[in-house]
Amino acid sequence: MIESRESEVHAFNLIAREKAIEAAAEIDKAVASGRDPGPLAGVPVALKDNLCTRGLATTCSSLILEGWEPPYDATVVERLAAAGAIVVGKTNLDEFAMGSSTEHSAFGPTHNPHDLTRVPGGSSGGSAAAVAAGFAPIALGSDTGGSIRQPASLCGVVGVKPTYGLVSRYGLIAFASSFDQIGPFANDVADAALTLEVIGGHDPLDSTSIPSQVPDLAKNLDRGVEGLRVGLVRELLEGIDDDVVSRVHEVADLFSSAGAEVDFVSVPAVEYGLTAYYLIAPAEASSNLARYDGVRYGMRAEGADVKHMNSSTRRSGFGDEVIARVMLGTFALSAGYYDAYYGKAQKVRTLTRRDFDAAYANHDVLLSPTSPSVAFKFGERSDPMTMYRCDTCTVPSNLVGDPAMSIPFGTGAYDMPVGVQVMAPQLGESLMFQTASFIESQAPAGSTP
Ligand code: GLN
Repeated sequence: MIESRESEVHAFNLIAREKAIEAAAEIDKAVASGRDPGPLAGVPVALKDNLCTRGLATTCSSLILEGWEPPYDATVVERLAAAGAIVVGKTNLDEFAMGSSTEHSAFGPTHNPHDLTRVPGGSSGGSAAAVAAGFAPIALGSDTGGSIRQPASLCGVVGVKPTYGLVSRYGLIAFASSFDQIGPFANDVADAALTLEVIGGHDPLDSTSIPSQVPDLAKNLDRGVEGLRVGLVRELLEGIDDDVVSRVHEVADLFSSAGAEVDFVSVPAVEYGLTAYYLIAPAEASSNLARYDGVRYGMRAEGADVKHMNSSTRRSGFGDEVIARVMLGTFALSAGYYDAYYGKAQKVRTLTRRDFDAAYANHDVLLSPTSPSVAFKFGERSDPMTMYRCDTCTVPSNLVGDPAMSIPFGTGAYDMPVGVQVMAPQLGESLMFQTASFIESQAPAGSTP
């Protein structure tokens, strides 16, 4: 499958053919000797190329890390291996996970398998495309402001951002540490649930890891939604394309018919979500990316002295979007502007938490579009603001650390996939998956990639 379409889709930065064959042989041996090969035995998995894999190049789709081989595996990679999964490759992304289209990769864009003239979304566009194209039934991505859910929506697959702290970030190359979460892409809700059960749960190597296990998600999938209180977030239906909004209303009607209580709910602070996110995330990125200094990792450009070597490495190693974010973040943190920008953005974060708490006081889950539009054409969103608006519906969950996921629900304009987002309170994954499973069971046929 990979060989037949990868040249036109470009989901991968690296295909781990030999290693995959070796790992598969190990699974065969385990089965032959009667050992339990694990819940994901022999299942091919694609990993976003910002997850550390021992001895396998990990680039973040950046020239600055080209060819760098991590000396260790991320916790999620270890857990997948222990469950019998086979890593088939590292997937393309917007450089350092900054973007919504995978156009900002130093190694060229990924194409949407449903229409090669359109983007797959981002930043985990390669992982979403790999699952949509049938290259792997499961992939992992990272979601800082929507980078799992938005590409899942644009590629017509399931994408999950778990509660912050439920999945270990150990070995995930940091973008904005207070937002970053790893999560699965899959063809269906049940596969996503199984994958989250495998990769989640406490890890002492991540100081923000929650000291609990992932609940048994599979058990509730068929419970239905009777009596469930579902809120349609009013602010997240504004400024969204009609074809997407009408799909969300269809889902709301299905909930009502199935005996759920559905109403509109207001979460006013989400209006400032994008602004707050685009101050705090770059601020954290400017600090996290300081480590790429030409000494410790990857490439080095020459310079007359250490200072010049450092700046010419960063200038030639980072792409324009990354440089813009580092500058923006440094500015937001600088003396004199800290209170006005970074401090204020943190206050918005607190307000957003309060508004969500109020909404969850009388709702079990919340519903919204995942992306304001279906997949767009390459080059169509060239100014940063239009691109940043792709994250309108996804960023709020990252600001507060709540879980959220995107479920494919039919098609919209140009016969491209539409995704519906379910949001739940912290550690509300059980109910979130139960709701998602209902949506999946009612979904009209999607487009075929
Ligand atoms: N599109 C958002 C950004 O560019 C989100 C990225 C992400 O979740 N990694 O920052």
